[in-house]
Amino acid sequence: MKILVYPHEILKSRAEPVRRLDGAIKRLADEMLKTMYKAEGIGLAANQVGELVRLVVIDIQRPPEEGGTDGPLVLVNPVIVAGDGEEVAEEGCLSVPGYGAPLKRFSEVEVSCYDLDGKELRFGAGGLLARCIQHEIDHLDGICFVDRLNPVKRALFRKKWAKILARLEEEANDR
Ligand code: ZN
Repeated sequence: MKILVYPHEILKSRAEPVRRLDGAIKRLADEMLKTMYKAEGIGLAANQVGELVRLVVIDIQRPPEEGGTDGPLVLVNPVIVAGDGEEVAEEGCLSVPGYGAPLKRFSEVEVSCYDLDGKELRFGAGGLLARCIQHEIDHLDGICFVDRLNPVKRALFRKKWAKILARLEEEANDR
């Protein structure tokens, strides 16, 4: 599976809710986890692999009290029902490789979603997990974290990104 690179049209599109938890969705979640591990990421939204469905995979390998997950998480149709506090921290994205910037997010969120068996889940998350969930749900809404930078930082990003993209293309041509 290939991870789409910003500013791909599908990354700017809104994903549709999952309506049936069939084998295709389970295979997609499985493939997304593999792709995420291979890229050494902690979260991936279906938009990033070209599928416009509201599916997110996350695995943060650190203790739960430090905002980690206890193994892989698959979130179907996730919604943030409440957010509290704010925290600024460095953020990056597998679709924007080689670039990171500080961004303000809720420090705690309450999430409602389904698991792959169709069971409804509701849980609170803090720390890195809270940030990751907000980042991934943004993807489902066609928003990339760089779209949330203030105008000054976004202008700086555009300049830097043009250079990074040119280098990525060069590397692809060299292969
Ligand atoms: Zn991302």
